[in-house]
Amino acid sequence: MDADVIVVGAGLAGLVAAHELTSRGRRVALVDQENAANLGGQAFWSFGGLFLVDSPEQRRLGIKDSLDLAWSDWQGSAGFDRVDDEDSWAVRWARAYVEFAAGEKRSWLEGHGIKFLPTVGWAERGDLRAHGHGNSVPRFHIAWGTGTGVVEPFVNHAKQAARDGLLTFYHRHQVDALVIEDGHARGVRGTVLAEDNSARGVRSNRDRLGDFELTAQAVVVTTGGIGANHDIVRRYWPERLGTPPGEMVTGVPAYVDGRMLDISAEAGVRLVNRDRMWHYTEGLQNWDPIWPGHGIRILPGPSSLWFDALGRRLPDPCLPGYDTLGTLKYLRTTEDIAGYDHSWFILTQKIIEKEFALSGSEQNPDITAKDRVGFLKTRVLGKGAPGPVDAFLRKGADFVTAPGLEELVEKMNALTDKPLLDAAEIRRQIEARDLQIANPYSKDAQVQGIRNARRYIGDKLGRVATPHRILDPEAGPLIGVKLHVLTRKTLGGIQTDLDSRALGVDGDPIEGLYAAGEVAGFGGGGVHGYNALEGTFLGGCLFSGRAAGRAAARQTG
Ligand SMILES: Cc1cc2nc3c(=O)[nH]c(=O)nc-3n(C[C@H](O)[C@H](O)[C@H](O)COP(=O)(O)OP(=O)(O)OC[C@H]3O[C@@H](n4cnc5c(N)ncnc54)[C@H](O)[C@@H]3O)c2cc1C
Repeated sequence: MDADVIVVGAGLAGLVAAHELTSRGRRVALVDQENAANLGGQAFWSFGGLFLVDSPEQRRLGIKDSLDLAWSDWQGSAGFDRVDDEDSWAVRWARAYVEFAAGEKRSWLEGHGIKFLPTVGWAERGDLRAHGHGNSVPRFHIAWGTGTGVVEPFVNHAKQAARDGLLTFYHRHQVDALVIEDGHARGVRGTVLAEDNSARGVRSNRDRLGDFELTAQAVVVTTGGIGANHDIVRRYWPERLGTPPGEMVTGVPAYVDGRMLDISAEAGVRLVNRDRMWHYTEGLQNWDPIWPGHGIRILPGPSSLWFDALGRRLPDPCLPGYDTLGTLKYLRTTEDIAGYDHSWFILTQKIIEKEFALSGSEQNPDITAKDRVGFLKTRVLGKGAPGPVDAFLRKGADFVTAPGLEELVEKMNALTDKPLLDAAEIRRQIEARDLQIANPYSKDAQVQGIRNARRYIGDKLGRVATPHRILDPEAGPLIGVKLHVLTRKTLGGIQTDLDSRALGVDGDPIEGLYAAGEVAGFGGGGVHGYNALEGTFLGGCLFSGRAAGRAAARQTG
């Protein structure tokens, strides 16, 4: 045998599983199709937002959260409707995960040296129904170091285990088959890929050098989702979200190719909930791309006005930062706009300075470098938009600015094949909205939402601009942003039990086979159900990777 356990995929889930195994003395073969520079996978690029419930950070900010409230929110968002079948394990994973987030998660992360910003973000504010989708309270805790800081301790553990002779890295080894004999996972087969010294995140070659086979007592599959493979995204795009856009930007590196899902199915593994995915409607073309079609997601505060391709304001709950898939559904199923791939934000300089954050470790260099003083200077005390946001404003292909609305709309129209926007019609809608600003109450749901958000001190200080008229020249210039659909997360995948054991098509665990992280729908084959509360993906990798590592260690003990 080449190892006690083979872990396929050196992203966060695989690294956590490997750590659990090597810290119990098991020998691990860590196999990945990419080079050593890519250790950590997507988590390295991520923003490092983590879903925690009733944390000290929340309490300090006056947020009253509880396991009951979080569980109610999770169920409202997930909408599990296949509990006797595809959701049977997912729903159990969901409960266990929310308990983890309300309990041990924070101290376990702290034990690994991971600390959090004092402010807590309010992601997925929801669909405006108490029993529906969304976070009733802010729960998005950003780690110092962003995702780079979350994955770093586990990268260090793997390197130390390699030095101690417990872990062997197999970089540039692409798995093409799982070896399962007599219902027991025995190893993997695949292709040794040619050396590639590309920098992290850059698409690498797929030139073949030869074949390989590795054997072990157990195999853990942690190979991520499908986000970079638009063919697979389109193949499983659900009817309820209308038609997939003709053009999408890509929110993940090219190695998030989804191949291992079909390879697992060929080996008799049960895949579930493949029609559930989590793509964003606020994607930008990156002016400085790293991977093919590289898109960046705006994490918007609540004040930008959102218009469809024909220049009509989106109805609530399709408001910035409220309901990701509700908005995607609206854009892709409304008859006269579904043929267009874009929508628009119109906002002011005053809004962009306070409300635009960009997802990704490289877009938040102060937090990634754990530079607390720099963070305070730029984000709390500083004037102007943070540097990376300002760079998009100046260099991004999707941004236009103008002192007046008519000129802005002319520039927005120049970004599409045909001029689809009517400045007078947009003016009418913005003027109506601006009339709602004079009073501290309003009939406009978005204005109500802004005022509600500002009752939370974290939003008031750092995230939500003082309510103002969009057409107030003092708040300008005006900014138009063309928004694209950005592919990111896979919510379904390999069905697993609470020990992360992969199930076969008959619903029974396959001996010695485990799956964790995004390839397993972040636990159970779809812990999120239909909708995520955000910050739950990294946590899902940690939780399911940990379960897989512990169970595989018990099996091989
Ligand atoms: C820009 C960005 C921002 C994000 N922000 C957040 C956030 O703030 N909060 C949050 O919770 N989540 C966030 N996420 C999501 C989160 O980072 C990912 O869902 C998570 O890191 C996935 O980890 P994983 O270990 O399951 O898979 P991955 O990180 O995708 O790792 C899988 C690994 O498997 C390898 N592999 C695949 N197939 C094979 C094969 N056949 N053979 C060998 N190797 C293979 C790949 O090369 C890769 O290294 C973000 C993601 C991105 C890209």
